[in-house]
Amino acid sequence: MTDILIIGGGIIGMLTARELRLSGAEVCLLDRQETGREATWAGGGIISPLYPWRYADSITKLAHWGQTRYPGLAQELEEYTGISPEWNRNGLLILDAEEQQAALDWASQWGLPLEVIDSQRVAGLEPALAVPQAQAIWMPEIAQIRNPRLARALRADIDKRGVKVLESTPVDALSISDGRIRGVQAGDRLLEASKVVVCAGAWTATLLEGSGLSPEVRPIQGQMILFKAIPDLLKRITLFQDHYSIPRRDGRILFGSTLEEVGFDKRTSAEARRHLLDIALARFPALATYPVEQQWAGLRPASPSGIPYICPHPEVQGLFINAGHFRNGLVMAPASCRLAADLVLGRNPVLDPAPYALTASRI
Ligand SMILES: Cc1cc2nc3c(=O)[nH]c(=O)nc-3n(C[C@H](O)[C@H](O)[C@H](O)COP(=O)(O)OP(=O)(O)OC[C@H]3O[C@@H](n4cnc5c(N)ncnc54)[C@H](O)[C@@H]3O)c2cc1C
Repeated sequence: MTDILIIGGGIIGMLTARELRLSGAEVCLLDRQETGREATWAGGGIISPLYPWRYADSITKLAHWGQTRYPGLAQELEEYTGISPEWNRNGLLILDAEEQQAALDWASQWGLPLEVIDSQRVAGLEPALAVPQAQAIWMPEIAQIRNPRLARALRADIDKRGVKVLESTPVDALSISDGRIRGVQAGDRLLEASKVVVCAGAWTATLLEGSGLSPEVRPIQGQMILFKAIPDLLKRITLFQDHYSIPRRDGRILFGSTLEEVGFDKRTSAEARRHLLDIALARFPALATYPVEQQWAGLRPASPSGIPYICPHPEVQGLFINAGHFRNGLVMAPASCRLAADLVLGRNPVLDPAPYALTASRI
């Protein structure tokens, strides 16, 4: 019997496992496939919510904690595993003309660097932009992480620290009796544990269906295209009308994304490819000479207002949830997983857990 079982090996499951293991707990993580192959792989890796002033304070708190923690986490992972997650602070340029005052007010409330800059500075920061911008919002401290590499580094880290990882192990049901978690049923195996943390991303609600109260988490598909360009063709993360470009160090450029309510369907479409390509080329004509190397879709774990559930289950002792991070799972992960570990271990919580509870009013 393990102390703690974690269901799901995306960033949320793996980072929760790491936090728990660092405290000395015996941890076993289960994934029905390879770890880090779902939303965590498909995401863009911007270490900020898009238009961050539009979100609830409970999201800003998790995001801000994560932004502060990432440089150290990336360094620890690289030193311990030899895999760099490519944390890179290349700044976020928001090209939309509206909401500048709301952005400035929000930044001054939270003490975060954000300024409105003129067209000359915009052109200096991102010379490849086609349309001269009268003004833009500039957030110089915003970083990105290369999420597939972060997932690989995290996996190597937890392996080395002694987390037991069982891949190709789909959990079919939770084993609950007398209001207590006993473990999980995976095929014909009953894996026993005194504590279980559900970190199953978009599949979380399905797993918790039999537990009484189940969180509202549903899949929202996002499609992305990847250009194989050259290093430094684009310099910054840019955002305009909800579409963003993310230049990686090796010259690859992600352009995304769509928001589609299609259930658990991860098929890509020619329509989405065309849509993203048109917008990308209008913004950056220089991309026209580079091939689209890949297109993919991922399922974001959407929760009401994007506020994740990080909490003990109110009706089942020993059962915990860390899921529903929607569009901001990468940026919120460090805080979310530290908080989840605090709750599992009964430690003083790093943040007030109240906004992330599973209550009847939130479903
Ligand atoms: C196109 C796109 C762009 C994004 N861009 C960003 C961004 O720039 N910044 C940002 O912060 N966030 C971004 N996100 C959101 C972010 O990727 C997610 O919020 C985050 O990855 C969620 O992590 P997770 O570990 O909860 O879920 P997942 O990564 O989906 O992991 C869940 C895991 O649970 C496993 N699982 C499910 N059911 C079972 C079962 N029954 N038994 C065993 N295992 C199971 C799955 O196999 C999977 O490995 C983006 C997402 C998408 C799709």
